[in-house]
Amino acid sequence: MHTSTRHPVLGCIADDFTGATDLASMLVRGGMRTVQTIGVPASNTPLDADAVVVALKSRTIEAADAVNQSLAALDWLRAQGCRQFFFKYCSTFDSTDAGNIGPVAEALLDALAGQSGADFTIACPAFPENKRTVYRGHLFVGDALLSESGMEHHPLTPMRDPNLVRVLQRQSKAKVGLIASDTVAAGADAVRGAIASLRADGVRLAIADALTDADLRTLGAACADLALITGGSGVAIGLPDNIRRAGLIEPNDKAADLPAVEGAALVLAGSASKATNAQVAEWTATRPAFRVDPRALARSEPVVDEALAFIDAHAPQPVLIYATASPDEVKAVQQEVGSAAAGQLVEDALAAIARQARERGVRKFVVAGGETSGAVVQALGVQMLQIGPPIDPGVPVTVSVGDTPLALALKSGNFGARDFFDKALRYIEGERA
Ligand code: ADP
Repeated sequence: MHTSTRHPVLGCIADDFTGATDLASMLVRGGMRTVQTIGVPASNTPLDADAVVVALKSRTIEAADAVNQSLAALDWLRAQGCRQFFFKYCSTFDSTDAGNIGPVAEALLDALAGQSGADFTIACPAFPENKRTVYRGHLFVGDALLSESGMEHHPLTPMRDPNLVRVLQRQSKAKVGLIASDTVAAGADAVRGAIASLRADGVRLAIADALTDADLRTLGAACADLALITGGSGVAIGLPDNIRRAGLIEPNDKAADLPAVEGAALVLAGSASKATNAQVAEWTATRPAFRVDPRALARSEPVVDEALAFIDAHAPQPVLIYATASPDEVKAVQQEVGSAAAGQLVEDALAAIARQARERGVRKFVVAGGETSGAVVQALGVQMLQIGPPIDPGVPVTVSVGDTPLALALKSGNFGARDFFDKALRYIEGERA
């Protein structure tokens, strides 16, 4: 039975924002009402949610910083009443020999010592739906080994070794083991048996194989008593069922329901990626749009005021404000103004437009671009988002938690189909057709 003291039971720490959203969407799909925070919140406002995902930006920072931020997130999640914890990283195990997956996982286990089940955890980046599978400790992206998938050329976290037992061992103090595919295929009891023998051998972290969603559900069930689980969002598939079986949450087919938000809508695009260029082209063919010109910003022209006047002139019709340009145009501007300066000018302008649009009654925002979304939510003072239904894979409708709720659809540049802006506006209005 629900009581007024209901609090979140599953506390998650994600090493980047879009990964956090992915995980939160997965939990909502599993029937858990989920709130995502942007960084570690400063306050302890009581949360009406079954799960909380703290989004950090810790994937590529120094391991010691990643550890400190993750521990701060853990402290906050424990203060909210969470009992089980999930450390979420990329399904391609993005990391270097210096960290951050091993050091963060070990630090979280250390901090949880004393809680039962905190002497061991699994590491499972598999996400079969997105063609990430792990077989005998080796990570595959589609048909290719991780080290031949293109990830070996990643600018920050080149993955040149597909054997995750070795990769994780290089990052970890404790012994790393393997829960192999044949054990997982034999079911949750077999996995529990494997965990018991790994523990007896002094293993603290084990890569877990998974080829299918059924494997992920088996792992989820076998890990019900672990204090900490680590992996991609795939392995979170099994967690809602565990938590329901333990009687901590009730079946809920309304986990994706969001509070209604009234007010005008605005689309902001600060991504120059291919998908966003297509989405901007689709919108501008028939709908009102205002282009933010980085050169005009560099000349200190009143671009923000012009954009606001454009919004006013078309109200209550939603308009698109975009800096999006072709790769050649972006390159030309970057050469003239400098890449960092051009990016900052555009982000600052879109953030200022969002803030002033809210003062004019805009309550619904569709934003394209990862960094752009970060700048906009910061300008709007948004710290927590309740996660609703997916618009396109990986991009849910969200509503900010707190006074004057805002409806937000935040997508990283390359996500979403051509009609994403229109679809996002319809979903924000509560239509799902
Ligand atoms: P994505 O998710 O596609 O990477 P981001 O918002 O994270 O998008 O990053 C895009 C960056 O490019 C931002 O810093 C943005 O300000 C900048 N930018 C957008 N349009 C232009 C442009 N026309 N010229 C130069 N920089 C731009």
